[in-house]
Amino acid sequence: SGSRSVGASAVETLRAKLKGRLLQPGDPSYDEARTIWNAMIDRKPGLIVRCADAGDVVHAVRFARDNGLLLAVRGGGHNIAGNAVCDGGLMIDLSQMNAVRVDAAAMRAVVGPGATLADVDRETQAAGLAVPTGINSTTGIAGLTLGGGFGWITRKFGLTIDNLVSAEVVTADGEIVRASASEHPDLFWALRGGGGNFGVVTSFEFKLHKMGPEVLAGLVVHPFSDAQAILQQYREVVATAPDELTCWVVMRQAPPLPFLPEEWHGKEVLILAMCYCGDIEAGQRATAALRAIGKPIVDVVGPSPFAGWQQAFDPLLTPGARNYWKSHDLTKLPDAAIGVLLDAIRALPGPECEVFIGHVGGAAGRVTPDATAFPQRSAHFVMNVHTRWREASDDRSFIAWARQLFDAMKPHAAGTAYVNFMPDDEGGRVETAYGGNYGRLAAIKKRYDPGNLLRLNQNVKPA
Ligand code: FAD
Repeated sequence: SGSRSVGASAVETLRAKLKGRLLQPGDPSYDEARTIWNAMIDRKPGLIVRCADAGDVVHAVRFARDNGLLLAVRGGGHNIAGNAVCDGGLMIDLSQMNAVRVDAAAMRAVVGPGATLADVDRETQAAGLAVPTGINSTTGIAGLTLGGGFGWITRKFGLTIDNLVSAEVVTADGEIVRASASEHPDLFWALRGGGGNFGVVTSFEFKLHKMGPEVLAGLVVHPFSDAQAILQQYREVVATAPDELTCWVVMRQAPPLPFLPEEWHGKEVLILAMCYCGDIEAGQRATAALRAIGKPIVDVVGPSPFAGWQQAFDPLLTPGARNYWKSHDLTKLPDAAIGVLLDAIRALPGPECEVFIGHVGGAAGRVTPDATAFPQRSAHFVMNVHTRWREASDDRSFIAWARQLFDAMKPHAAGTAYVNFMPDDEGGRVETAYGGNYGRLAAIKKRYDPGNLLRLNQNVKPA
């Protein structure tokens, strides 16, 4: 159905209904609209609806359904699987719906589905407030939220979805509904982790928290030769970390960071990236044990504007490279798992490849696994293998490295997975990814999208 063609007059009828723009191959903005973060994805939709408002989304959804078109939904275009764009069919492009409205007195934000994390931080921090999101500010709030969402202040304030109060949703039959604890509560449950399966979200309402303006944050960089001992001590220290403290591990070849002595550029390093999101003095005490581990090459942890720290990794995570990810949820980091990681880093296939160990738990871990669709609340770490390269001729060898590490790590993993880190070849993993929540998701999918119109995602099949 993706390539089914639609008559010119039907297209003109759709165009006339829209407040936003309808783009077709050859239009000046067409290539920009279909280009996403992961350069491995090069798809050409038949129609792109650049929506201006929820009404446009309604027209686009109904048009796709009535004409049997494959439908893709683009928020910030950062998902690794590339489902934001389709070949043929119709793509809903939400990038123009990026308004962020903060009600400081009520500590709430209403956020459009085209907003980036930077858009959200800019407006919320202007009021001294924040909602927990992710670590790369160009990521879209929409996809991040629908999968769960975690980053530097998640251990203090929960997953992004734990701060979602309500959402406005265009359902697969083109109706606008509001989902919250009291309205369409099943839909609200499913949106919090179930991805783009249940409707097109046109507005998110978040609860906000006092934050910053400064946090204590930065990097401690170690020689990779010390990695085993560092990881063993890291594991002990973070086991009792306060909720304010988050420390991710990054292993890769050192990029040419200005504060790193030049002789380290291009050498394998282990980076402890940390953030303490409370009082700066308390942060100095809370980070002391982590910063005392080993003999670092540099320690650049210090007071930093929160919004600036939220962008710290942006220069390494720019769009335009070829990317392939593999991820496991980890409840522990046993020595055997550390051994697997070290073997993989010794075999790093390229200068931009890295393994991230995201640090979760805290407030996010104190929510029951069936309270939202996001199934895994006991993981302490999320491993993500970021494989990144430039030439299509290298696809096979780089992807093979990621898969090998993923397979070797499997015996140490929790079994569930974060759908937002899954590539496009993991459709068969969705059911296990959701663990005990899959059955309820499938039942809700049947109610809200029985025809599986919204299937370009980590797809939940209607029960
Ligand atoms: P898109 O590709 O636009 O959307 C992803 C999918 O979500 C779409 O295919 C569609 O199925 C669905 N979707 C999008 N918008 C809507 C909508 N309005 N209504 C219904 N469905 C919709 N995640 C974290 O939790 N923490 C991190 O720290 C983190 N870091 C990242 C860093 C980088 C560099 C990248 C590329 C990703 C990172 N992620 C992180 C993962 C991120 O959460 C996912 O890639 C997420 O899907 C991105 O959302 P998006 O809107 O930009 O993507």
